[in-house]
Amino acid sequence: MQAGLSTTIKNALQLETKLTHPSFKIIAECAAEMNVEAYVIGGWVRDLLLNRPSKDIDIVAVGSGIELAESVARKLGDQYHVHVYKNFGTAQLVYEDYNIEFVGARKESYRQESRKPIVENGTLEDDQNRRDFTINALAISLNKNDYGRLLDPFNGLKDMENKIIRTPLDPDITYSDDPLRMMRAIRFATQLNYTIEEKSLDSIAKNKERIKIISKERISDELNKIILAQVPSIGFKLLFDTGLLHYIFPQMVLLYGVETKNGKSHKDNFYHTLEVLDNICKTTDDLWLRWAAILHDIAKPQTKRFEPGHGWTFHGHEDKGARMVPQLFTELKLPLNEKMKYVQKLVLLHLRPIVLAKSEVTDSAVRRLLFEAGNDIDDLMKLCQADITSKNEYKVQKYLKNFELVRQKLKEVEDKDNIRNWQPPIDGETIMKAFNITAGREVGIIKNAIREAILDGIIANEYSEAYQFMLKEGKKLGLKQS
Ligand code: ATP
Ligand code: MG
Repeated sequence: MQAGLSTTIKNALQLETKLTHPSFKIIAECAAEMNVEAYVIGGWVRDLLLNRPSKDIDIVAVGSGIELAESVARKLGDQYHVHVYKNFGTAQLVYEDYNIEFVGARKESYRQESRKPIVENGTLEDDQNRRDFTINALAISLNKNDYGRLLDPFNGLKDMENKIIRTPLDPDITYSDDPLRMMRAIRFATQLNYTIEEKSLDSIAKNKERIKIISKERISDELNKIILAQVPSIGFKLLFDTGLLHYIFPQMVLLYGVETKNGKSHKDNFYHTLEVLDNICKTTDDLWLRWAAILHDIAKPQTKRFEPGHGWTFHGHEDKGARMVPQLFTELKLPLNEKMKYVQKLVLLHLRPIVLAKSEVTDSAVRRLLFEAGNDIDDLMKLCQADITSKNEYKVQKYLKNFELVRQKLKEVEDKDNIRNWQPPIDGETIMKAFNITAGREVGIIKNAIREAILDGIIANEYSEAYQFMLKEGKKLGLKQS
């Protein structure tokens, strides 16, 4: 009988058998003893129906969520403690691998200038009304008379069937009340590959300016979730089309568009960037490598020139782009740490492997690239390969083939010379001792010359050759061996 049903519907049948985690029975017992109603609600229920197991459970009690949490903790034993967040009226309990959050059912009303609502106690229906999307408003009863029953007042199940993001109430009110929901709508559409209902999409475009009242941190949290989805371009196109992107990340909007002069056009760098991003997502789950893909061409608008007789150029965009990264990270409230430096480095070097692949691949060029990229060389190669988006299949094949050559060469040079994370065999101390000099300009010059000679393959990467070379360089500077 179930054969023709979708997974979602099948999952919605006999829900009581799916509440397998021991916490549900205990919560139900405590709620019955306290004579309050309790429900599992929101994201966990949605993800259960979508076969996306989650360890974050939200429990809503029609009464005090905090008291219910405390009673559950007492029943579980001495080692369990509740963290109470008085300001929010919530309580959190970690039990086995689950993170359970308790809250009393509430009714919310909003004011124009803030996303912080005025909160009153309410019924389950009030609580479901304040949820952002129909698929996030589903609840499962933990009460004796109907344990396991799905409460779906807004047809969230049907929306799951049709893969639709829809707000329970008028979208203009939902988004204006809490503009973060606009980001969440786009994030869920991207993660689940759902369509945002047209009315809702129009409403986001209409309310986009209200995103200004949301903190940058929260916006970036959602943006990062979009970036971590399987096909992030879905989200970026929605952000762009609704106009939200213009507020949250205007530098990316500047990549949009094609200019034509003397019959020559350049590619649309916005869509190119999205293609590169989707490409790289097939080879990495790393958020920062994905950010490097987003930012690799970010300085193209600022470096664009038309050179008569030649066409469009973007000279130095990798360098300028790398220099833009700290400011962009600051504005987006992304961490200003080694992750930022990593993104910066990849943006700076992103053209290097392809330049190599286009010309003859020499040992010394490969050695230099290895030296500069260090341990990030594999990520750089991924980025560069993702960057090949030409429509010309012949060109793509040619680049990919040359790329294989670069990879091979990288491996050969790496095996032979060990350049990754390399330190030249002669350090400053040795130089100072050899010529009986103190730290200063000469030491730097000699060190540099040794490094360059090794990278160029003039001398081997080993102590005695480097030592002899050092002596010669010192002599050139008029230094005497001590
Ligand atoms: P995820 O955990 O994947 O980020 P989620 O939907 O579970 O997604 P949470 O932040 O964990 O998001 O929130 C849990 C539930 O709280 C949601 O499913 C939704 O019902 C409700 N909720 C969260 N944020 C909002 C909001 N801004 N407006 C209305 N309801 C919200
Ligand atoms: Mg959640």
